Amino acid sequence: MTAGFASTSSSEVRERLRAARLRAFLAQQMPDTEIRFDEPMSRHTSFRIGGPADALLLPRTLEDLQRCVRLSIEMGLPLTIVGNGSNLLVRDGGIRGLTLKIADNLARIDLNGVELTAQSGAPLAAVSRFAAEHSLTGLEFACGIPGALGGGVIMNAGAYGGELAEVTTQVRAVDERGGLRVLSAAEMQFGYRTSALQGKKWIVFDVTMRLQPGGRTQIEARMADFTCQRESKQPLSLPSAGSVFKRPPGGYVGPLVEQLGLKGYRIGDAQVSEKHAGFIVNLGAARAADVLALIQYVRGRVQERFGIGLETEVRVIGEDA
Ligand SMILES: Cc1cc2nc3c(=O)[nH]c(=O)nc-3n(C[C@H](O)[C@H](O)[C@H](O)COP(=O)(O)OP(=O)(O)OC[C@H]3O[C@@H](n4cnc5c(N)ncnc54)[C@H](O)[C@@H]3O)c2cc1C
Repeated sequence: MTAGFASTSSSEVRERLRAARLRAFLAQQMPDTEIRFDEPMSRHTSFRIGGPADALLLPRTLEDLQRCVRLSIEMGLPLTIVGNGSNLLVRDGGIRGLTLKIADNLARIDLNGVELTAQSGAPLAAVSRFAAEHSLTGLEFACGIPGALGGGVIMNAGAYGGELAEVTTQVRAVDERGGLRVLSAAEMQFGYRTSALQGKKWIVFDVTMRLQPGGRTQIEARMADFTCQRESKQPLSLPSAGSVFKRPPGGYVGPLVEQLGLKGYRIGDAQVSEKHAGFIVNLGAARAADVLALIQYVRGRVQERFGIGLETEVRVIGEDA
């Protein structure tokens, strides 16, 4: 036994060796994919919260994406997908198995007439800007949404009266066995902040959108206006995951929470934003457990006072510490 293992039990040594073999196997199977082990998810979420992912993989091609899925089946490891992490709360214990991050590593944008096809890791802001630069209208609403296109299409992201459902014509996705599927807009079954892919373990690879020709100056003016509105209303200087709850039918969450006097209410370093009561912000050292307790508290108070059951828009993943 080496000096470093002197105080370690034999079962721990076996566990370390098993983990080392798994890592070597993964690295050998995925030579072109960057893999980070025990990677803190706080580095990959806009909340700056989240325990470690056992293995975070950043595939760069469709084939690598498919290989990751097949490998997870062969190895019997759970598979989790994350995009830009702007709608995610990762619990403090982190994520077991393989976590695929699809962001800048898969972010190509192509144009064919008025049809724009972008890989799912392309930031929504970049896709929106690309459309404006080519004098195409329809994606102005997306200019300030901090997510990537894949997460966006899964969530049917939207703002200022627009949403991805209005422009999406086709989605290509990798299914749970690693096969490539092509879905029409109808098959995506878009609804308010939802789509058919939310219940499935499929991975969006790319999205085709049909836009309309427009005047670049007007398009850019609309984008500038949306940006101003966002900056004046949202707490953009503090880490958050945007609106925590979905809008209840016929209303907004912010005013309900504000009427309860909960603006600024804190649990640990998780706080109901003082600027926008629909946001929870991380004041510095918030843990997922603090945010979850705050969500629970706000939901309970809203239910008790207004009889409205709030549903979370933020997706909660991973294990408790
Ligand atoms: C300051 C701020 C403002 C925001 N404003 C808005 C807004 O105006 N409108 C709005 O709609 N949202 C808003 N959001 C929320 C968020 O940006 C969107 O939901 C965004 O579309 C999420 O994309 P993402 O890449 O960050 O996805 P993630 O948060 O990483 O993931 C979200 C979900 O999508 C899944 N997913 C991600 N990528 C893929 C993929 N390629 N294939 C399959 N599944 C995938 C994940 O598993 C997860 O379930 C805001 C967030 C912040 C922090």
